[in-house]
Amino acid sequence: MPTRPVRVRFAPSPTGPLHIGGLRTALFNYLLARKNKGTFILRIEDTDQNRYVPGAEEYIIESLKWAGIVPDEGVSFGGDYGPYRQSDRKSIYKKYADQLVESGNAYYCFDTPEELDKLRKDYESRKETFVYGSAVREGLNNSLSMSREELDQKLSSGTAYVVRFRFDPAEEIIMNDLIRGEVKVQASTLDDKVLFKSDGMPTYHLANVTDDYLMKISHVIRGEEWLPSLPLHVALYKAFGWEESMPQFAHLPLILKPDGKGKLSKRDGDKGGFPVFPLEWKDPESGDISSGYREAGYFPEACVNILAFLGWNPGSEQELFSLAELSEAFSLEKVGKSGSKFDPDKARWYNHQYLQMKPDAELVKPLSDILSKKGITALSSRNMEKIISLVKERSDFVNDLWTQSEFFFIRPEQYDPEVVKKRWNNQVYLQLKETLVFLEEQADFTSSILEPSLKSFIEKKEFSPGPLMNALRLCLVGASKGPGIFDIAEILGKDEVLLRIENALHKLKIA
Ligand code: GLU
Repeated sequence: MPTRPVRVRFAPSPTGPLHIGGLRTALFNYLLARKNKGTFILRIEDTDQNRYVPGAEEYIIESLKWAGIVPDEGVSFGGDYGPYRQSDRKSIYKKYADQLVESGNAYYCFDTPEELDKLRKDYESRKETFVYGSAVREGLNNSLSMSREELDQKLSSGTAYVVRFRFDPAEEIIMNDLIRGEVKVQASTLDDKVLFKSDGMPTYHLANVTDDYLMKISHVIRGEEWLPSLPLHVALYKAFGWEESMPQFAHLPLILKPDGKGKLSKRDGDKGGFPVFPLEWKDPESGDISSGYREAGYFPEACVNILAFLGWNPGSEQELFSLAELSEAFSLEKVGKSGSKFDPDKARWYNHQYLQMKPDAELVKPLSDILSKKGITALSSRNMEKIISLVKERSDFVNDLWTQSEFFFIRPEQYDPEVVKKRWNNQVYLQLKETLVFLEEQADFTSSILEPSLKSFIEKKEFSPGPLMNALRLCLVGASKGPGIFDIAEILGKDEVLLRIENALHKLKIA
């Protein structure tokens, strides 16, 4: 049998910002497409007008672009199977709902919301759950329980109706999931889900299955929360006579809270200080801001690597994968069944690794951008690169480059009191005064020149080097942190070093 071209889709509903679980679904779809030289499609599922949130669609597209998971077809990307936004496809679906009614696989229901509500309450009072399905449907207000005349009369008078799927209670629905294997369910236990609503719009189920068919989707990869919809979707393919074109299904395991107890939520992110959305999101109603990976300083490559390992693993020790390497290595067989815990420390670790891999020259611009926002002029690009090389290893994010190197750009005004207490005394004060005179006479502050000459001076003078170096660091940095003191001196340059020592001698005068 010839293999089908791989066509996969990411089909989010624009109901708010995209959770990282959604971005992972997009990623796995993208990877399967790339691996098989297939097509990755973005379809916007906005049939539920009540849940529409302005800006969400743009947010989804921007997130995909940021992560480098760029669709080949879809809303804002074009393609031959459009339109790709379901609200623009509204006119397509009615025909398919009608087709199912005609073949006896669906029926019209005229029950009012009040009637259904009453039924639900009656059942509840008997500690039972009302299910609109094969056991009760014949007795309700629908086309199965009325004459042809009555039905025609209702339809022509414009009475509001919905179309429901009619499950055959005798049927056992057999589903195959690429991750979970075979799953069976008895159709008699299922409710006759609404396919078409009184507002003239299809429900998610009808639109989703019809569009997957029309767009020739070969694999449906989505979150496990959609597994309960699978029996209906499989039954719909059968009812339409589309079994030959039915996609293969893969339901991805959940992303769990760091402690493994339940699904990762925005609240977990707020509590643990990590984002759960790719980009920052401002809620259009409340104005509340939710943090994003991009704004928190994550590189898109790191974010993609983090997401890939939530559910998938390569079966080897390798942890760092570029998008191109992932596209090579990915397979659905290596996606596990059980949920994966989100580990915020591991997320930082990934970003740290990607930061280390960036050439220093590439980090000059992002660090200079931080400086210019603070009104600080950057140093020469040679010195900027040197600073970056000195502090990079202690940094996880670009912003850490700034916090680790602040003292290069801002002369200390204050001195860490703890360090002063421990390291500053009459002896180092007097020794520093002599050292200052020695340094004034030095022409070359290159670390490889200055280091041996200062050391031999210290030796000649019989100063103890440790305490003096600590005090010198306090003068130059204002604290006890930072890279090697001679590297610092070289970048600051002679004038600045002398000035900083003079300042400290003045401000930390010993009476
Ligand atoms: N619109 C659904 C969602 O928001 C799509 C589920 C699917 O991929 O079938 O996740």
